Amino acid sequence: MNTDEILDFDDLGYALREGRALRPARGYRIRFAQDGLNFRNLDVADPVPLGRQILTAAGRDPQDSYSLFAILPSGDFEDVRLDEPFDLRERGAERFVAFQTDSDFKLTLNDHQLEWGKPAIGGAALYALANIGDDEAVFLEVRGGEDRLIEPADLVDLTAPGIERFITAPKTFEIIVNSRPREVEAQQVKFEQVVQLAFPGPHETNVVFSMMRHGHLEHRFVQHIPDGLEPGVLYVSMEYGTAAHSCCCGCGEEVVTPFTPIDWKMTFDGETVSLNPSIGNWTLACRSHYVIKRGRVIESGPWTDKQVEAERHRDRVAKARFYGVPDPTEPVATAGQVEPPSQAKPGFVGRILRWVSKAGR
Ligand SMILES: [Zn+2]
Repeated sequence: MNTDEILDFDDLGYALREGRALRPARGYRIRFAQDGLNFRNLDVADPVPLGRQILTAAGRDPQDSYSLFAILPSGDFEDVRLDEPFDLRERGAERFVAFQTDSDFKLTLNDHQLEWGKPAIGGAALYALANIGDDEAVFLEVRGGEDRLIEPADLVDLTAPGIERFITAPKTFEIIVNSRPREVEAQQVKFEQVVQLAFPGPHETNVVFSMMRHGHLEHRFVQHIPDGLEPGVLYVSMEYGTAAHSCCCGCGEEVVTPFTPIDWKMTFDGETVSLNPSIGNWTLACRSHYVIKRGRVIESGPWTDKQVEAERHRDRVAKARFYGVPDPTEPVATAGQVEPPSQAKPGFVGRILRWVSKAGR
């Protein structure tokens, strides 16, 4: 063989990714890190080095007590002994970690055996070893309990009892849907996802879902109802005998609730405001339906076309009786007759009304 053909070095990582044998070279390039995962390139002269050759190439004295591990393609850590030959190409291990230590801490990550020569491991190291996407996270398995989320910035004490099994799983966040805790996998959740959590499976296109975004309304006594309504605020004008708020589903529509014997009755208990009867926004696209009770927004049942028709009729009759003439104008919002479900709880992040079918969509 012509010596000109001998490379200065062949990179093991390239060879592995290209699925080829190592080429004749003066050195074989691996990645080496000590006491962590800050890998650097390291050239070793032998394609089947001994453990001590790797340490020597890294400028470490093998006489000092080092633990050397190869990180196998599976993610497992394999102990490389000082006098044990390690076939780089055959084992497919590109990364080596050394710890200057007498004791190794064993742990598993997705059932792969890891050995860590320090009493603590950084969350970032676990993420790097797990090689996962942004939508996944590392968790510490807690037997008989809730798995603990490990953040990249965390430092996990490996000497603490029970610290041994780490797993990766999609990141989840707990939200409350229809009073029940549910898990979602990202910090932002889409409307359709929440609908699926509440009512799994396919839905017909004429089914409309609505969602409460505000669990509380803060009352604000004002002289005039302002033009732009701040969401989550119930504006009360005693002067004009009316209240107004931005629809609690978050759709942004203005909901006006006049105080009259046939519309709404407002109760102020000195701290909170209640409105009676319920708010049924059946003229709005969202068709949300809720009760404002002591500042809380409590979802009510859905509006079906039948209920809308009945309510429309009741409203017309009530107004006709009150004014002595039929009221030709359709109110922005009108009263419902459905009592709030007694089990409804406030303080939710998201809440869904049961589905209502909407005609003409
Ligand atoms: Zn709405």
